[in-house]
Amino acid sequence: MVKNLRGHRHECGNVCYEIDRCIEIDPDSDDDIKSITILHEIIHAIDYVYLQQKLEEKTIDGLATGLWQVLKQWGIDFDWE
Ligand SMILES: [Zn+2]
Repeated sequence: MVKNLRGHRHECGNVCYEIDRCIEIDPDSDDDIKSITILHEIIHAIDYVYLQQKLEEKTIDGLATGLWQVLKQWGIDFDWE
């Protein structure tokens, strides 16, 4: 992610809201971490577009992890291969 663009940068993934509008995931992360991270970054993007960035980081963490748990229990997961 280019410095000074609006977005969030994390250890395992990033989201950039301007220009390239990308989500980056660390390819060396464990698959479950990749899945939680992409959900986390998607929620950041939703927060930016629809919620005026009102969500706190811990709320985004909880939503991403909870959503991942529900999807996993339903047999839905990302294919990282
Ligand atoms: Zn975050």
